[in-house]
Amino acid sequence: MGQAWTSLVVEGCAAEAEAAIEAVQAPGEEVSIPLLTGDDKRCCMRFVVRKFGRKSCFLFSCGHTLPTCSGVPSWPLEIRNAEGQGKSAYAVSDLPENQILLEEEPFYTRTPPAELHGRPEWDEDWSAAFTRIKAPMRLPGGESEKEKPLLASTALVRDVLGFVKMPESLRGALMSFSFPPLDLEHGLVDVALQLAKLCKERLPECKAFQVEWLQVGILVTEMNIFPGGRVFWTMSRINHSCAPNCVFTNAPGRWGLRTLRPIRKGEELTISYLGEELLLPTSQRRWLLWRSKCFICQCSRCTSSEDPLRDRACICLGRAPLSWRVVHKPAVWQRADPSTKSRAVALLKEGFVFASTGEIRRTAEGAWVQVEKCEVNGQTSGWGLIDGAALGLGRLIEPCEGRLPSLCPQDGVAPGELRDRLQKRALASRAGLRLNWYDGDNLERHLLPAASAATQWRRDDGDDEDIDTETGAEVQGPAFLPIGWARLRGECWHCRCGCITKAMAAEKELSEVAQRVFALSLPEQPRASQAGVKGLALPDEGFVLTALRLADDAGRLFGRRHWIWQWGLLFAVDLDLSLIRYTYMQWDAAFASRTTAMLIEVWDWLTSLGLSQEPSLFLHSRAQRLAKELESVILPNHPKDRFRELQGELRRRLEASSPSVSLLPPREFIPGSLFIAH
Ligand SMILES: [Zn+2]
Ligand SMILES: [Zn+2]
Ligand SMILES: [Zn+2]
Ligand SMILES: [Zn+2]
Repeated sequence: MGQAWTSLVVEGCAAEAEAAIEAVQAPGEEVSIPLLTGDDKRCCMRFVVRKFGRKSCFLFSCGHTLPTCSGVPSWPLEIRNAEGQGKSAYAVSDLPENQILLEEEPFYTRTPPAELHGRPEWDEDWSAAFTRIKAPMRLPGGESEKEKPLLASTALVRDVLGFVKMPESLRGALMSFSFPPLDLEHGLVDVALQLAKLCKERLPECKAFQVEWLQVGILVTEMNIFPGGRVFWTMSRINHSCAPNCVFTNAPGRWGLRTLRPIRKGEELTISYLGEELLLPTSQRRWLLWRSKCFICQCSRCTSSEDPLRDRACICLGRAPLSWRVVHKPAVWQRADPSTKSRAVALLKEGFVFASTGEIRRTAEGAWVQVEKCEVNGQTSGWGLIDGAALGLGRLIEPCEGRLPSLCPQDGVAPGELRDRLQKRALASRAGLRLNWYDGDNLERHLLPAASAATQWRRDDGDDEDIDTETGAEVQGPAFLPIGWARLRGECWHCRCGCITKAMAAEKELSEVAQRVFALSLPEQPRASQAGVKGLALPDEGFVLTALRLADDAGRLFGRRHWIWQWGLLFAVDLDLSLIRYTYMQWDAAFASRTTAMLIEVWDWLTSLGLSQEPSLFLHSRAQRLAKELESVILPNHPKDRFRELQGELRRRLEASSPSVSLLPPREFIPGSLFIAH
């Protein structure tokens, strides 16, 4: 414990390397040895040397750069102590984006579950004691318990068995990794202690170990383990950031580290210990990291007072300008309802200026603005058609100041339509179906005006204030937000028109539910076990419809930049892809266009968050599958053009992005009621 590791690079051939290793005096020195391979290419092996006594020397290969690399090899990173916070990895040179820095084999893999099977110790006494192990989980600072207590798991037992069975030298190596202090007030530290006591008492392999050692064995494994139960000499030392500059890549049998963006020499290398949870709001990310890895994240995203994942639409977004002038000669009709078939309530002469309520309504005839009742002006309430194109006329009325909200037809699916869309298409109507985990009925009073909720956020939405006047480029930076969108700062959302605190409690409540519902793993869902459909989840129809309704509601409350809406879109895209693959449903151009538009909307959202240089990291595998499915879509005449446009847009994005790791692989699930066993 607490041993210092140093790096020593040895140039030369294998024989020289051996000599160099011989010469290493201090135990625990790390040696990097460049080796010549065929074709004059150089490759490098990396070893850790541990000496025991005079002669015995324990070596393990802890990584190698790609065999394909050429030129003078250099180890891309350096592990050293960061100021006041343990060890960190730093770039030793400038690194380009999207480059594999190293590939590495695990030096330790956790005991497989099979080794636990059929042991005589698993009797009733054991299971009684095992299930009694629990500890409360709370954030430091004494905040009340946020979740259910932490329990012991069989994974932790496997940690113990792996730890006591490994060679002493390996154990020493593992102990050089970080783990929380044993007096830390944390549920996992507590559970590890209780389990360590039980194991020492009951398992023969553990008898020779002190309880504290077993506890450390659990903690050090849990803190440094990667998905699949592996610990890596180099990669397990890389710290977490919620805005990581590197990513762990995981192809079968190959584990590596890839850069996500250009990294400067001396910069700390970071990866994310979270999966899709990286796209959760700060408070939820921090909680998950504290629960699983025992630290309070201090990354740039977590310490920022702003949280762009919780951006919400403001009522001012979809609102029409308040003052309008009639521009059509000689006059236009004001209607009781937004329809030319509706009763005419007034004739508004050209040049007449009237006040609007700000409400806009879109119909097949065009957009209508609501006229405000005003006794001074002699106005009655009603509606005025803005553009007469559908009637063979030009512009009828125009705003006196400000600009018209975007009136072009919206792509994709607007909040409120997700559930209906599936119900119409694939499911028997089950209106009124209730599930106890979500009931959004009390949210009605917080809903945004329909136009604000439906407005799609676009990258080019910025008004003049946000455009650099010389280059015409968007001004980047955390402060940038298109008009009508509010960003959470401190305890309220800030729009240019003011401060919003409305529906904050509802938002937090919905977030807790959404985090569980939209998780990639779709927890506790029944699965199809038939051959050929391995892994296909078959959730209850009610689960799927309620999940879509949750996304609809979040969209109608907070608009289309809010993370719950975006996660809902991903859920809907995955559902569409699964329906095509596993049911007899066929896509028509209209349906497929909207699926494509939904994926593009998420893509734009990820781009705007700037979490990596390349949003396709999150979406590539899903987008590829969609692009392939689109090739088999039946094309009628009408929506063909729009379909072609969207298909082209998706292809263009795929071509412009390099195939890389997929941080958010698509889920496979269809409502169980639609599953037909073959
Ligand atoms: Zn190499
Ligand atoms: Zn963080
Ligand atoms: Zn506003
Ligand atoms: Zn405020």
